Amino acid sequence: MPNEAMSPTVYDMAVIGGGPGGYTAALYAARAGLTVAVLEKTAPGGQMAATGVIDNYPGFDEGVEGFALAQRMQAGAERFGAKTIWAGAAAVDLAASPRRITLDVPAGEAGGEVLARTVVLATGASPRRLGLPEEQALTGRGVSYCAVCDGMFYRGKTVVVVGGGNSAADDAIYLSRICKKVFLVHRRGSLRAAPAQEKALAAGGVEILWNRRVAEILHGQTVTGVRLARTDAPEAAGEQLACDGVFVAVGRVPDTALFAGQLALDEQGYLIADETTRTALPGVYAVGDVRQKPLRQIVTATADGAAAAYFAGEYLRQG
Ligand code: NAP
Repeated sequence: MPNEAMSPTVYDMAVIGGGPGGYTAALYAARAGLTVAVLEKTAPGGQMAATGVIDNYPGFDEGVEGFALAQRMQAGAERFGAKTIWAGAAAVDLAASPRRITLDVPAGEAGGEVLARTVVLATGASPRRLGLPEEQALTGRGVSYCAVCDGMFYRGKTVVVVGGGNSAADDAIYLSRICKKVFLVHRRGSLRAAPAQEKALAAGGVEILWNRRVAEILHGQTVTGVRLARTDAPEAAGEQLACDGVFVAVGRVPDTALFAGQLALDEQGYLIADETTRTALPGVYAVGDVRQKPLRQIVTATADGAAAAYFAGEYLRQG
């Protein structure tokens, strides 16, 4: 007979991803008495941690720093016994019983597995790239996907923000307070961002370059400029614009590659689950930005986390 003390721990719930959805699932589940492990590869909070002041999360009359809120969400879940394991998931077997998550550990370190009766998928989304050949090599050398993280390196300099959604507008407005000059390059003639953003961009002195795309990022060791092409007149000659940095804010892509083949994804790669967060696999839940949904906000991610914990508890009680 196997020695009881040697048996691996089987958690009631494993949460993959320590953003607002993941830590809310952990909080609700741990508070309900379930054993919970949260797997997080870098820092708590996900995209929220890279946001400056958050004005639209209720309960903070002067807003709250994204990273501070992330730490509080982690502490709130750990207060009830949820455990954070600082590792990503390298592989998952969501149909196994118990479900198995292989940890992604640095080369040379002993690997490991987390076993759990239920799994909450809260891996969120990553920045979409422009897809230019030079983009990856210049990341951290003038190309950034996080204005709040990297904006300070461009104090008094000229930068280009790419995109036309709320993220691009927020980034351009944020950078206009730090940089000498901010250009917003958008591929169409109108913004996807909320109408109020256009006024804020104008107030910040942001110059919008409509109907243009970045065709090439010019560089030596670091970024020196961009070559722009017109999207409304593709035959027109390209323009060059000198700049010190390029902030890419063209949306996000869900981090679901790990689950492909085990769960259905929609045409954009999001996990298919309704407001109950239940996926097609009983005991497996999709929460936050990784789930197909109409509105991706911190409050909608935390709401998902609560739902996942509720339905996971119900699933476990049914045995
Ligand atoms: P988004 O709303 O999907 O906007 C992405 C923008 O990037 C669009 O303008 C799109 O152009 C452009 N784009 C996409 N691929 C491109 C490419 N390859 N090259 C050039 N441009 C490209 O993404 P988001 O701004 O990250 O926002 C995501 C969600 O979070 C949205 O629901 C947004 O409202 C929300 N959000 C809210 C706030 C806030 O409330 N303050 C802040 C940030 C984000 P097209 O317009 O031509 O499609």
